[in-house]
Amino acid sequence: MAALRDLPSDLETGPVKVCELLVGLPDVRVLGAKRHERHVELHVETTADVAGCPECGVIASGKGWRVVWFSDLTCFGTPVQLAWHKRRWRCVEPSCELGSWTEVDDRIAGSRLRLTDRAARWATQQVGELGRTVTEVAATLGCDWHTVNDAVIAFGERLIDDPGRIGEVASLGLDEHLFVREEHGRRRRHFVTTICDLGPVGDVSKRLRGRHPGRHAGRRPLPRRPSAPRGAVSTGAGERPATSGCRSSPVKLRAA
Ligand SMILES: [Zn+2]
Repeated sequence: MAALRDLPSDLETGPVKVCELLVGLPDVRVLGAKRHERHVELHVETTADVAGCPECGVIASGKGWRVVWFSDLTCFGTPVQLAWHKRRWRCVEPSCELGSWTEVDDRIAGSRLRLTDRAARWATQQVGELGRTVTEVAATLGCDWHTVNDAVIAFGERLIDDPGRIGEVASLGLDEHLFVREEHGRRRRHFVTTICDLGPVGDVSKRLRGRHPGRHAGRRPLPRRPSAPRGAVSTGAGERPATSGCRSSPVKLRAA
């Protein structure tokens, strides 16, 4: 006689529920999956069986589905191609001008990208924070270079534009660098201004806050911050990052 399994009472054991639990997308129903040689094909739809017209609010009528493909996070190391069966809806209010539309859910994927939202965030972190190349990340996800690059640009720009990313700054260090690149046998010069948060006196952990093309970024007025002391700015080669193949020179600037 086989021994009784000692399973937790709250363990999910239904095959479909287990699958949906592993997929982990919000309010999504798993329709099926297929394993290919190099990737897994996963079909899903949302659980939204009723929708109101976004224009007039009248309950909409179903108009079929449109299948849109996305690259998702890997599943146990295998790339996943997600087929989202997007619902098509039609407004039944005769006076409404909206007509028909396709459902959107940014929690699953944005409307212009070919990565799911979570895959795009992961890719952005891999490239922007961990320094992996777009090519490497694309190989991991099993998609093309442009798919990852578009997502990294879209999500990276949101992070850069977020004013909260800078936080409190005790003092700024600016340095301009001249990069020289060989292009078709000609040497082209590119200036870049690097901005660092030097931190409080005695703190040696300098944090990179931004890089701006050109050599005049440091001459622009800096945004006023109540907590930042006026003129708390350091310039010159003393703050130069360890970058080879470039030279730096002090820049003049003013703190607003
Ligand atoms: Zn309507």
